[in-house]
Amino acid sequence: NQQILLDNRPEGEAQASNFKLVETDTPALADGQVLVRHHFMSLDPYMRGRMNESKSYAQPQPLGQVMQGGTVGEIVESRNPRFAVGEKVVGFGGWQQYSVVDANLPGVLRKVDTSQVPLSHYLGAVGMPGVTAWYGLVKLIAPKAGETLVVSAASGAVGSAFGALGKARGCRVVGIAGGPDKCAYVRDELGFDDCIDYKVHSDVKSLSAALKTACPQGIDGYFENVGGMVLDAVLLRTNAFARIALCGMIAGYDGAPLPLANPSLLLINRIRLEGFIVSEHMEVWPEALAELGGLVASGKLRPRESIAQGLAAAPEAFLGLLKGRNFGKQLVQLA
Ligand code: NDP
Repeated sequence: NQQILLDNRPEGEAQASNFKLVETDTPALADGQVLVRHHFMSLDPYMRGRMNESKSYAQPQPLGQVMQGGTVGEIVESRNPRFAVGEKVVGFGGWQQYSVVDANLPGVLRKVDTSQVPLSHYLGAVGMPGVTAWYGLVKLIAPKAGETLVVSAASGAVGSAFGALGKARGCRVVGIAGGPDKCAYVRDELGFDDCIDYKVHSDVKSLSAALKTACPQGIDGYFENVGGMVLDAVLLRTNAFARIALCGMIAGYDGAPLPLANPSLLLINRIRLEGFIVSEHMEVWPEALAELGGLVASGKLRPRESIAQGLAAAPEAFLGLLKGRNFGKQLVQLA
């Protein structure tokens, strides 16, 4: 069983040398346990925060242990009557080829139906990132039909799901993404009304002017994934009583400071801004996953994936995610 451990903590930007690839035997199963062979593992921006020592909303990733993370795979051995060999499951198996799971613990493994939704999408649109978009949209922004919504990192796992969910509610949805290919995909394949390239409009003045053109009625709801200059530009275009779901600030995960240029706009426009962590809202997951599964099965949400091959490729793929080199949900294929 190949595994990737966190070997040492980053100082400044994360590096491939923070990780270490090792090989171990899989232990024999005890009663209640199953052996899962991972087909795909998920790489997610939150993993960068956990590489640091400082305590955030989640405990830091322990040194010398397998990197934690979401996985989908197949039961290959079972000593649990509720799980049969061959069944497909989503779990939290970490950066390794196999995991031994005590399948009696509540919520550690969930069986998934791959007849309408491909297995890998349970780590993306029909998984944690999709539910993240759903929670921020439905519970925090709570849009009315006809309102204008904006989302940053629009081509990614969370952003693409946000667009489909917003369109399904009759909103005008505008994305912000990096580069012409990502913007064309957001507009043409994801069905956003417009998408702005923040690499072309690379300062607050230019980006807010582009937002003014793309959002002639102003912005009622903003789903923030990035932070920094993008947030400053969006704030300039918000309507009175706009809602901001603060989901992520990836521009700062490697340590860059993210000052807010004009916080008084929050007051002037009576904005409600709320941060959230999707794993603290397990009560919405069934409803959100049902809607997201329906959107994927019906072809209304066609999520894109960047798939790195083999466990050894995971560190570089992860560093690429933090630099925007991924195009869609970043996965590693293991089997
Ligand atoms: P994505 O698939 O969107 O990939 C990350 C994208 O972020 C990149 O493709 C890149 O897109 C963009 N990006 C990276 N670096 C920068 C930068 N310096 N400035 C601007 N954009 C950058 O990832 P996810 O969909 O998985 O996650 C999106 C956000 O949601 C993240 O901030 C993540 O932390 C957050 N999140 C929060 C959760 C919560 O519970 N609060 C749960 C899950 C995710 P581009 O090339 O377009 O810039």
